Amino acid sequence: MSNTPDPRQQPPAARTLDHTVAAVPLLQGRVLLHENAINIPRPRNALNDDLSGVVMTGPKADARAFQLRTTAGYQGTLLIDSAPYATHTATAEEPFIAPPDELFATVDDSLTFQKARGASAALTPTGYIPPASSRALKAVMREANRIERADTLVSLPIDVTWLNRENIGQLIAVCSKIDHPKAVILFRQFDPLEQTKDVPANLRRLFTEVEHMSLLRTDLAALDVMAHGALCAGIGVQSSLRHAIPPDEKARTGKRGGGPTYPHALMPELMCFKGAESLSKLYANVDPATCDCEECDGRGLDRFALPDGETRREADNHTLLTWSSWVSEMASYRVGNERKTWWRNKCAAAVDRYALENQRIGLGAHPKSGFQVPPPLKAWATLPVAP
Ligand SMILES: [Zn+2]
Repeated sequence: MSNTPDPRQQPPAARTLDHTVAAVPLLQGRVLLHENAINIPRPRNALNDDLSGVVMTGPKADARAFQLRTTAGYQGTLLIDSAPYATHTATAEEPFIAPPDELFATVDDSLTFQKARGASAALTPTGYIPPASSRALKAVMREANRIERADTLVSLPIDVTWLNRENIGQLIAVCSKIDHPKAVILFRQFDPLEQTKDVPANLRRLFTEVEHMSLLRTDLAALDVMAHGALCAGIGVQSSLRHAIPPDEKARTGKRGGGPTYPHALMPELMCFKGAESLSKLYANVDPATCDCEECDGRGLDRFALPDGETRREADNHTLLTWSSWVSEMASYRVGNERKTWWRNKCAAAVDRYALENQRIGLGAHPKSGFQVPPPLKAWATLPVAP
């Protein structure tokens, strides 16, 4: 798509909602897609307008969100996450990071600015909340409760150790006292949910015990919290947007030696993300797993290990269509035990398919390579439906 608008067709003005329009009804039940603000935004047909939306993420998020609204004409639900937590740590004195630009000196200005750029609701510019930093967490609560707007989500970019047995009680207590809806972002290298064994259960507890919680910048944990009563959630379009890392650390990709990075595709039967390179290797000598989504149309999932942008977009659309179909399916079950049971059974059925798929491609039942059940999936498949 060209970036130059057709002069005969003026782009529509960004739809601006003021601070009195509440965030909760706009976001309720949605699983949003985190888009990388490095890329020129293009609307995705794969996005379900009733159950999804976009979180524009990264340093240029506001400008890209505005382009998505105006040049690209996107009308759906939109959040802007400029990710101040990627470079700033929250302190007791300064829990929110007002943009360094002098034009936008206060937190309220930052929230108003997001709305002017087309956001449906505004996210507080909270800094990263380090392990056990109670003073920073309480400062977030205190400052958040001074905000007199209906359109604000309080962003909580927390280190995953806040979900440990020792800290979860305090996290729940503080979150319960924040008057606005909340958006948790988990920090850790690799998958935060694999950090310790009790993280999936405690994350659920947080979402069950506190009202209006959402989980952003995550992976399939989005569906787990949605099944357990979350307000909304957000899944990253690429693996770096499916968690966050503390400001003083560099991303470790687990890849040795550099070279191009390929997308990770969501496996529809196994419910895990797998790198395109390893998929093409695993399926080198056997029929690949196939997919029936609109993008794949029955083709194999071994085809994404190419460095070009179109292949990446195709892989991303496949992943988006795959989890979107699960979100639609979930929406057809009643909130509560019916929905939780459906999710647990779905995860359990996926876990059961690993040994079969590994044997089909010529690996043993418990191979060191091949497909491994991600520990969070195993937890979702086995944790009790009711706490
Ligand atoms: Zn597909």
